[in-house]
Amino acid sequence: MKNKKTDWRAVILYLLGGFLILSLFLPVKTGNQPKDTAFSDFLNRLDKGEVTEVVIKGEIIEGKFKDGGLFKTQALNYPNLVQDLRTKGVAIKVENPAESLWFWNLASQLIFPILFFGFLWWMLLRQAGNANNQAMAFGKSTAKPLVGKMNVTFADVAGVDEAKEELKEIVDFLKFPQKYHALGAKIPKGLLLMGAPGTGKTLLARAIAGEAGVPFFSISGSDFVEMFVGVGAARVRGVFREAKKQTPAIIFMDEIDAVGRHRGAGLGGGHDEREQTLNQLLVEMDGFDPKTNIIVVAATNRPDILDPALLRPGRFDRQIVLDKPDQKGRRQILDIHAKGKPFAPDVDLDVVSRRTPGYTGADLESVLNEAAILTGRFNKKIITMAEVEEAIDRVMAGPQRKSRVVSEKEKNIIAYHEVGHAILSKLLPDADPVHKISVLPRGMALGYTLQLPIEDKHLISEKQITADIIVLQGGRVAEEIFFNEITSGAQNDLERATSLAKKMVCEFGMSELGPRTFGKKEHQIFLGRDIAEMKDFSDQTADAIDTQINKIVAACHEKAKNLINANKGKFEEIAKVLKEKEVLEGEDLKKALKGL
Ligand code: ADP
Ligand code: MG
Ligand code: ZN
Repeated sequence: MKNKKTDWRAVILYLLGGFLILSLFLPVKTGNQPKDTAFSDFLNRLDKGEVTEVVIKGEIIEGKFKDGGLFKTQALNYPNLVQDLRTKGVAIKVENPAESLWFWNLASQLIFPILFFGFLWWMLLRQAGNANNQAMAFGKSTAKPLVGKMNVTFADVAGVDEAKEELKEIVDFLKFPQKYHALGAKIPKGLLLMGAPGTGKTLLARAIAGEAGVPFFSISGSDFVEMFVGVGAARVRGVFREAKKQTPAIIFMDEIDAVGRHRGAGLGGGHDEREQTLNQLLVEMDGFDPKTNIIVVAATNRPDILDPALLRPGRFDRQIVLDKPDQKGRRQILDIHAKGKPFAPDVDLDVVSRRTPGYTGADLESVLNEAAILTGRFNKKIITMAEVEEAIDRVMAGPQRKSRVVSEKEKNIIAYHEVGHAILSKLLPDADPVHKISVLPRGMALGYTLQLPIEDKHLISEKQITADIIVLQGGRVAEEIFFNEITSGAQNDLERATSLAKKMVCEFGMSELGPRTFGKKEHQIFLGRDIAEMKDFSDQTADAIDTQINKIVAACHEKAKNLINANKGKFEEIAKVLKEKEVLEGEDLKKALKGL
């Protein structure tokens, strides 16, 4: 959009220029333009002897009065004219009427317009041809450093303490680069902020610049999508050039996924413009040496589609994930945005933070803003809990919400589901230990339980795979036991469990069918994954395979059920803590799982 606007500005500029040039011609003509004079006036002045010279062009008479004024008049067939002129001693000149009229008609009707439009056309062509230079000029104007305006600091960002802790290091780099250079340390070039929309990526990037007190150059990937080819690349170049003049500095590339999409992905080949922009960004990042003291911060909510080239060492090798805030974080964010708003005593932000699981910082900001707007609409002076409640619902349903939120009931089910996984991985010695449990949605998943292996595994034993399948069943089993009702939430778990069981039977030879494999895989080199499975067994064997898979899954399900039933009391305790804290990890998690 931006560059379309600028196009129009340019067109208007050239139009004005054209008029200016045209007007340079006009004064010459108008300044010496003979004054239209009535024939009778002309005759009268001739009688008085005031005419000094005439040029007769057919019926047109032009000439000069004694006072220097030029005149022009149309004569009828006036036979005595020449006689009269002679008696008054006027100099007479006769011109071929056709010739001079022809010239002036053509000049005014054709040549000037042609010159004018030709000039315009030429300028437009020139502009298109120089798109790069133009873009550079535009690029400069849109990527102005917002230095001084960056009055955002880490204090304005809440609920992302881990990220802030990591970023303190970056701020220190920017503040005292010499300290690190003296130690021979390489300052990171790129930093990627990942997180759902509204989790404060843009805010945090600004806060880094604000904390470090360095200029902040901002460009957005989505700006490049509708541009002429070459413009995006030129703008990237322009921004880097400007930033290098004012180091240390931060270059912020918002929504980098718009240009940093996996190259060559999608139908019809890559998007030329995007690719060029991305390439230019990579070239610039590889090109400046770390002593330049520029840190490129990029933000995305789609890290999954990013071109792997972006994540290579020396590029965006530092990655920081911004999770949705937990209850404590939401409380802090609400505190920040509640400032300057008059609340009635019945408004308890603690309650608001509990009612808003899954809301991002941006969501919470709009909750308080909506509440204020509602209050204003009812001509009230003070925001009460009623408006806040209404605002929470509005924001949940509202069109501006981009990420998922969870209702109280869903949160309850998700908590039990996740504890089901967690408790089993704690109870089974062969399962990977739990690292984190969360009831906050992330990506496609509602809640999640993160298990991390203690060491890298190259060989997996039958016991370990079985334990994995049991843990995967935990979510569904918990729903069965505690709610007597099952949800669609276990779909992915069941898919993974089934696939593991199938592998046990068909690939690892871990079933009653013996140590052999079933089915051959065709590897497609270009796609790097299996596209076809060839069946090399009879239908009868297929039945046997199915039976074995079912048997494994059923046994694991049974085991999960027994384990959870045996620990129901502890289970409920953990679920309660999880519902309250929403995210359990580290010490909290250890404490919650203790005694199992
Ligand atoms: P993103 O770039 O991740 O989509 P933004 O940084 O644009 O999110 O966030 C939009 C607004 O929401 C911010 O300007 C800020 O007012 C509010 N906000 C988001 N996250 C936070 C947070 N962690 N703390 C305080 N305010 C936040
Ligand atoms: Mg943003
Ligand atoms: Zn699950």
